[in-house]
Amino acid sequence: MTTPPAAQTFWAPRAWLPGGWREAVLLEIDGQGRWQLVQPDTPAPEDVPQLAGPVLPGLVDAHSHAFQRAFAGLAERRETEGDDFWSWRDRMYRVAGAVDPAMLRAIAAQLYGELLRGGYTQVCEFHYVQHRPDGQPYAERHAMIHALVDAAAEVGIGLTLLPVLYERAGFAQAALRPDQARFHFDADDVWAAAQAVQRHGHPRLNAGVAIHSLRAARPESLHRLRVLTEGFGGPIHIHVAEQLAEVRDCLATTGLRPVEWLAQQGLLDARWQLVHATHVNRAEIMAVAHSGSTAVICPSTEANLGDGLTDLPAWLRAGVPLAVGSDSQVTRAWREELRWMEYGQRLGLRSRNVAAAPEAGQPATAERLWQAALDGGAAAAGEALWGIHPGARADLLVVDLADASLTGIPSGRLLDALVFSSPGRPWRDVMVAGHWVVREHQQPGSHDRQAHFDSVMQRLWVDAAY
Ligand code: ZN
Repeated sequence: MTTPPAAQTFWAPRAWLPGGWREAVLLEIDGQGRWQLVQPDTPAPEDVPQLAGPVLPGLVDAHSHAFQRAFAGLAERRETEGDDFWSWRDRMYRVAGAVDPAMLRAIAAQLYGELLRGGYTQVCEFHYVQHRPDGQPYAERHAMIHALVDAAAEVGIGLTLLPVLYERAGFAQAALRPDQARFHFDADDVWAAAQAVQRHGHPRLNAGVAIHSLRAARPESLHRLRVLTEGFGGPIHIHVAEQLAEVRDCLATTGLRPVEWLAQQGLLDARWQLVHATHVNRAEIMAVAHSGSTAVICPSTEANLGDGLTDLPAWLRAGVPLAVGSDSQVTRAWREELRWMEYGQRLGLRSRNVAAAPEAGQPATAERLWQAALDGGAAAAGEALWGIHPGARADLLVVDLADASLTGIPSGRLLDALVFSSPGRPWRDVMVAGHWVVREHQQPGSHDRQAHFDSVMQRLWVDAAY
């Protein structure tokens, strides 16, 4: 996977280009795995291979904690009177406290293979499990980061690695809890790790930085990170306003709401990726719009954790770039994230096609959400260009029109059906940077990866009362 492909040419019957679907598209990829020529309305040349169906660009998974794949489906019983984000988190720490680099690599390789099949071709890894469980660094200080980098390289997905600033248990606490000891990374640790990732030089690997949350980082450390990242082009991710308790504690400590505080400190710019941004008011949304920052929404996880619903119509009206993330990995396909992004609104507002904007010439809900997630995902991943146009990385998904769920669907409604009619196995082929990573639904090495993942699951859960 590491050698650059030779220049290649394909022809697609349809492709989603900037602006929407176009017919009969000639596609040329250069030797660096980037689009070189994208030419619609071109009859199929005789000597050029034809792609087997309509083509979409890959999407960025803008928020992932890979290790949580080993916990998906295992937090769905309530044993006590109340169950919320915080009780879920205490149970999730069982996995966070148990994984070692070899286990993390196996979990991440399984996950990243699934994300590719789910239509993501780049994943932003918000990575905070850094040290041994007792908080001592590994002999190879970035062993856990290497596990993620190696897993992504193995399956061929693009990776934006985000080492996380994480240094206290809450606004009023000076230090981490014992079960958080292995997360400790200060601003200099974060910057050193990001630079190490940058030096790696892999063509599908980007470096960014992250702040766990305002509750987990001291204001001085945020400003230290700001100084260190002056002139840095990579993205800056932060969990923000996911929980009402966090907003309440932020107000009590600073007198301001989390997004309000970030804006007032002058921190926000187009590099910032505000993950969840669930509990925000209209003034905060306008501040984000002015800053050029992106809101990263993780609908399936936010539903699973009972976080609450963000004000999607207000984000869309304000023109804020939106991205989607798989976060806790309870869902690993973007079609399901977009569907739930809209369904949450329909349930809350008792209305249909909430994300559509017929007054702006955008009556198709799926198309508006898809285009927003494409644009926002590029910023989250630290990619200046994204999609099928010259200069962007040559990533694509080939739709399987033989799937029963797409039978008889008029071509203009294809994306509507892909998102809202629950097709079973939509992507026939997946390409990342000019390499085929899924061909005719087959993914090299997937059986071995699943076997490794199974052995890790046995180790993690053998003594648990499941
Ligand atoms: Zn998260």
